[in-house]
Amino acid sequence: MTQSYDGTDFYCDVAVPRAVPLDVVHEDELVLAYHHTRPFWDVHVVVVPKRHIASLTTVTAEDEADVRALLRVVQRVARQVEEEHGAAAVLTNLGAYQDSRHLHVHVHSGPQRSQAAVGPPQHTGGMDAAALLTRLAEVIDAHDWDALPDLLHEDFTCRLVHTGEVFDRDGWVRLNADYPGFQRLHVEDLVADGDRGDRGVLRARVVGTSGTGGELVFAVASFATVRDGLLSELTEVWTDVDQQAPEGTRPRQG
Ligand SMILES: [Zn+2]
Repeated sequence: MTQSYDGTDFYCDVAVPRAVPLDVVHEDELVLAYHHTRPFWDVHVVVVPKRHIASLTTVTAEDEADVRALLRVVQRVARQVEEEHGAAAVLTNLGAYQDSRHLHVHVHSGPQRSQAAVGPPQHTGGMDAAALLTRLAEVIDAHDWDALPDLLHEDFTCRLVHTGEVFDRDGWVRLNADYPGFQRLHVEDLVADGDRGDRGVLRARVVGTSGTGGELVFAVASFATVRDGLLSELTEVWTDVDQQAPEGTRPRQG
């Protein structure tokens, strides 16, 4: 389901284009900071310039704007880790120590995780449709709305066949989070499709409570398309529902 990344520039190839879900701490035009995908320390944030710069020792005057922005973010992250944990270290590797040939700064705190647990540095590739739909079902069933956007491509759209509505990423997250009476989502069936597992279908049973306290059960089939390791398109077919969305079930616009 996941592949390890074996190139030499994880940041240009995977992290900056956000080909995998990242736990982002800071992002602006020039800099990305996120919790390391395979942390070596208890607290481990990596800060990178978005533009390719090979390492600290190759920085030139041309890179000044990127390096200034990088340092500003390193300072902010380090200050926050220092405040929260009472200690922090800032590190950048060079030469043979540097596994990814793109300048990156580690901000870390706490004990080093055992190398046995960590293994050699590896980065997981994007999840396929089956893995993403499985995770999506877990996240929705757990009402873990903060984790939901991380599974969705920035250009994500969801189309509801019965109403003809189309939601973007934020809109669809809100629709789910705000849906009155939603309780559980039970996976009934999951089928992966497409050449590289980039398509999948999830059939699920959704249980909720009606306005008068009765139990509501719906069946839904979700047809997913994956791009860059994230869900990019979802088409939902609900059964036993009206073409008009029930009153009070749509998040307020704003
Ligand atoms: Zn690079």
